[in-house]
Amino acid sequence: MTPDPDDSRLRLTILGGYLGSGKTTWLRHQLFEGAFPGAHILVNEAALTPVDDTLLAAQAASMTLLAGGCACCTGKADLIAALRALCDTRSRQSAEMRGTNQIVLETSGLADPAAILAAIQNDGVLVHHIRVAEIVVLVDALHAAEQLHSEHLSRAQIEAADRIILTKVDAVPDDRLAAVKATAKQLNPAAQIEAAAKGLPHALSDLPEASAYALPLLSDGADPIRPTKIDVPEDVDWAMFSVWLSALLFARGDDLVRVKGVFETPAGPLLLQAVRRSVQPPELLPVAEKDRRNQIVFIGRGYESDDLRRSLAYFTRD
Ligand SMILES: [Zn+2]
Repeated sequence: MTPDPDDSRLRLTILGGYLGSGKTTWLRHQLFEGAFPGAHILVNEAALTPVDDTLLAAQAASMTLLAGGCACCTGKADLIAALRALCDTRSRQSAEMRGTNQIVLETSGLADPAAILAAIQNDGVLVHHIRVAEIVVLVDALHAAEQLHSEHLSRAQIEAADRIILTKVDAVPDDRLAAVKATAKQLNPAAQIEAAAKGLPHALSDLPEASAYALPLLSDGADPIRPTKIDVPEDVDWAMFSVWLSALLFARGDDLVRVKGVFETPAGPLLLQAVRRSVQPPELLPVAEKDRRNQIVFIGRGYESDDLRRSLAYFTRD
């Protein structure tokens, strides 16, 4: 997209990427480094998980959380309303007073950035006030091969990008990283491809020659990915809970794309996350809103939400 110096519309950066690709980590670092100065941050989460906004709030000038629906589909109306409200606020301010001249939208991992772009461009109001400046899509180099083979959405996200950031590149051997890069390039030859590790920029030079993965055709009939939120009782037996979670990840790791929860512990709110079968080390959070603790969100397919609830209740019963 070519910048027009006379374009006074709000600049919008759409930050996309599959579940667990490290969007919040990357954005935190970008804000810390002064990228997107003065930006209003909009964070969309498909299910009300209690974490991303807490981690971002410290770095962002101002922030809105859009929770409870993915902005590309079920939460589209909420996104449009939030963007219109930001445009209204800006129009009321005099030119000298205008603080916010840009917005960064961190999408949910289930979002197709192209659908969000279309929603904005098809809105008679927003199209005059907002310019989608860039679509940045993060690709988890560690899990990309698996995701690209099985998930249509992970391909669609790459196809929609202006800029692709391969993440977790320090955890991937060079030949695999080269293959992921070649595949991203094949899916979207126009995009600029960069790399990051733990949120920090990382060089992508000196990679060996590699061919792109031969990706299978995917039927659209695949069972869609859905979020399930479970309230964990405050008096839960933590030993039993961890046994249950490990057993669940072991048995259903292929169906569970992402697990994320915050639990109250004597040391403070504890963040627990898993991507497929890889459980990340638990992290103590500076703060978490009280009503969003002791919740765990499972994102996956091939099971009913009630099966998970029943299984947990059965496992942790006295
Ligand atoms: Zn969506």
